Amino acid sequence: MKYLDEFRDLKLAQNLSSRIKRITSKPWKIMEVCGGQTHTILQYGLEDLLPAQIELLHGPGCPVCVTPMELINKAIAIARTPGTIFCSFGDMLRVPGDKGDLLQAKAQGAEIRTVYSPLDALNIARNNPDKRVVFFAVGFETTAPANAMAVHQAKKLNIRNFFLLCSHVTVPPVMAAILDSSENQVQAFLGPGHVCSVMGWKEYEEISKHYNVPIVISGFEPIDILTGVLHCVKQLESGKAFAENRYARAVSVSGNKSAQNILHEVFEEGDRLWRGLGAIPKSGYKLNENYKEYDAEKEFLVEAVNTQESSLCISGEILKGLKKPWQCSAFGKECTPENPLGATMVSSEGTCATYYKFGKTQVKQEGDLSLV
Ligand code: SF4
Repeated sequence: MKYLDEFRDLKLAQNLSSRIKRITSKPWKIMEVCGGQTHTILQYGLEDLLPAQIELLHGPGCPVCVTPMELINKAIAIARTPGTIFCSFGDMLRVPGDKGDLLQAKAQGAEIRTVYSPLDALNIARNNPDKRVVFFAVGFETTAPANAMAVHQAKKLNIRNFFLLCSHVTVPPVMAAILDSSENQVQAFLGPGHVCSVMGWKEYEEISKHYNVPIVISGFEPIDILTGVLHCVKQLESGKAFAENRYARAVSVSGNKSAQNILHEVFEEGDRLWRGLGAIPKSGYKLNENYKEYDAEKEFLVEAVNTQESSLCISGEILKGLKKPWQCSAFGKECTPENPLGATMVSSEGTCATYYKFGKTQVKQEGDLSLV
C-alpha cells in the first residue's frame, strides 16, 4: 500500500540498523514519546534491530494511560447522575477507577454511549434536549481541536445541554517534567509526530536547547522509528543537541494553523494531574472564560473522590521510562488486558498492554531481524 509499504521495507530497515550499529560507540537511552510509536517498536521487533547499547524508553504519550483516576471516578459519578447521557470513545470505558469502570456503570444502568467523534455527542445533545449530554474529552493536542470545534458549534447553535469533561494534556510540559526529574534517564527523544502535525515543532527547539537534549520528530512506521533513532544517535555521538524534523511528510514548522486557532478560541492553558506522574503546571487545556458554561465539572459539581491505585502497579515509573512492564510483579498475572490493574494495561497504546500483546516478557536480546 502506497505510503505504508515503503516505510515497512525490510531491506531499508536492515540498512538503517547497520548504520545505527556502525556509529554507536557507547550506551544511550532514547525515549519515544508516543504510545503509537511504542506499539510499532514492539509489533515489529525494532529493538532487535538495534545494538545492545541502545535502550528505548517508553514515554507518557498514551492519553488514556495518563488520565488520572480522580477523573475516571468523576466520569463515573457524572454518568450515574439521572437525566445524563455520558459519551466517550470506547477505550476510556475500561479504564479502572478505584471502584470499577464506566463499562460496569453502564451495566448497572447508567446511560453511557460509545461515540466516534465529539460531534456525534453534540448530535445526541441536539436530539435529547431534556437530557444533559457529557463528552469525555481526553487526549493530547491531536484530539483537542475536534473537541474544541464541538464546543464552538454548541455555542454557535445555542445548544445548552452539551458539556465537556475535559482532560486534555500537552506534550512539551511532560517532556520538560521528565527532564527536570532527578531520576531522569532520557538522553534523547523521538518527538511526537502526530502532535507536531497540529502544533508544529518550534516548541521542541526550545526544549532541546534548554536541556541540551536531541529531539528528532518521528513518525509511526518502522522506517520512521529507525530513522529517528539513527538521527538521535548521530547527535548523541557527536555531542550535539538540536531539534530536527524527520516526519516531513506530515509535519511542518508551524503546524496546522486552523486547528491551533480553534484551540485558542475555546481553551486556555491549565495545570493538570497526570496519572502516575503527578501534577504538572500548565500541562493541559481547560475551557476558557467564554466557554466555561460547557464545563461538566462546573455543571455537575461532583466532589473530588479520594483514590487508591493498586499497590502492585508501577505504571508511574513505566511512564517516566524508569522501569519496563516485565519488572512489575503483577504483569501478566494479576494484571492482564482482560483484568487491568493500571491504565497502561487498558489502552492498546499503553506500554503494559503492548508488551503483553507482543509477548515481551524480558529484556531485549540482539539478533532477531523479525521485521515483517
Ligand atoms: S502490569 Fe498492570 S499493575 Fe503492572 S504496571 Fe502495568 S498496569 Fe500497573
